[in-house]
Amino acid sequence: MSVLLPGGAGYIGSHTAVELLNSGKEIIIIDNFVNSKPEVLENIKKITGKDFKFYKIDFSDEKELEKVFKENKIDSVINFAGYKAVGESVKEPLKYYRNNVSGAIVLFEVMKKYNVKKIVFSSSATIYGDPGTPEYIEEMGRGKTTNPYGTTKCMIEQILEDIYVSDNSWDIGILRYFNPVGAHESGLIGEEPKGIPNNLMPFIMKVANKELDHLNVFGNDYKGTKDGTGARDYLHVVDLAKGHIKALEKLDKEKSGVFTYNLGTGTAYTVLEMIETFKKVNNIDVPYEIVERRPGDLPIFFANPNKAEKELGWKAEKTLEDMCRDSWNYIKNKS
Ligand code: NAD
Ligand code: UDP
Repeated sequence: MSVLLPGGAGYIGSHTAVELLNSGKEIIIIDNFVNSKPEVLENIKKITGKDFKFYKIDFSDEKELEKVFKENKIDSVINFAGYKAVGESVKEPLKYYRNNVSGAIVLFEVMKKYNVKKIVFSSSATIYGDPGTPEYIEEMGRGKTTNPYGTTKCMIEQILEDIYVSDNSWDIGILRYFNPVGAHESGLIGEEPKGIPNNLMPFIMKVANKELDHLNVFGNDYKGTKDGTGARDYLHVVDLAKGHIKALEKLDKEKSGVFTYNLGTGTAYTVLEMIETFKKVNNIDVPYEIVERRPGDLPIFFANPNKAEKELGWKAEKTLEDMCRDSWNYIKNKS
């Protein structure tokens, strides 16, 4: 029996693939490489010493997807496939609804047809909107999102909940990730955004690598953060990957249900703390300038991760130092 990973060649999917293979699971990856590269597959094999099946398909292509379900014994699915650039989603909402939401619907329909009813879905802290408090707890539920990307996550969470209402033999795990950074300690897989990055860590790495001359720090006059710069709950991608193994174990144990968890550390670090830690552990300069706030940014938010610890036995273990060291190690290893 295999775990199917749509989007498994991507940043979080590839690290989860490694953890699944290391825990003895069989996996199948499907990806169309719209935001990843084929080398990732070889590197997953190098790290684990294990082989797996791969299909280069679009997960919204029903015919191709059905072939995968026909040819294999699939027990569960972890869906990573989708677009994730917040700014792009504002400019091209239909592209996001088409790929993320329509793709997910096709996937769920095919799962239903082949009687595969166990799924873990990559959701995001963005679904909380702006709840008016920095600490996010699962029970707060979905808020008003500020961009189409976030709305796709809300819609897919809702679709999964509706599927469960219609047929309560489904096992559904919804994982709300906070801010994943870092890379596998081997330096063989990591995050490599195309073009100018949006997120903080990839931007820091481009500056450290001298591809960009400085980092713009978006505001230093926020109230409620240590030094006035924005604060986020950064978590190491390997810790995050391990959360998926725990979620699958939970779904295996439970009869059925929809189980929703925050995956974060519970601590928020500011932009300046991130820059200073990156400089210190890697002994490299990261020039920066303070500029205007980025529209739509919240000052600070972080996970309440207690539910995941209590019910999944999952807790993030790696430090901010680990995140900064491993991110840079991946980039150095590539260049
Ligand atoms: P990623 O872009 O690195 O990985 C997504 C993968 O899906 C890529 O390999 C891409 O080629 C593939 N893909 C996209 N559309 C596809 C399609 N139609 N058919 C087949 N493959 C397709 O992103 P990631 O950072 O690994 O994120 C994985 C999931 O986690 C996404 O759903 C993302 O929204 C969610 N998430 C990410 C973050 C983050 O900060 N990285 C935070 C919260 C949630
Ligand atoms: N940030 C920044 N400069 C950048 C990118 C991000 O100062 O080039 C800040 C941003 O304002 C926020 C934090 O870094 O306070 C994390 O931003 P990111 O986009 O990585 O995550 P998100 O805001 O989506 O949680």
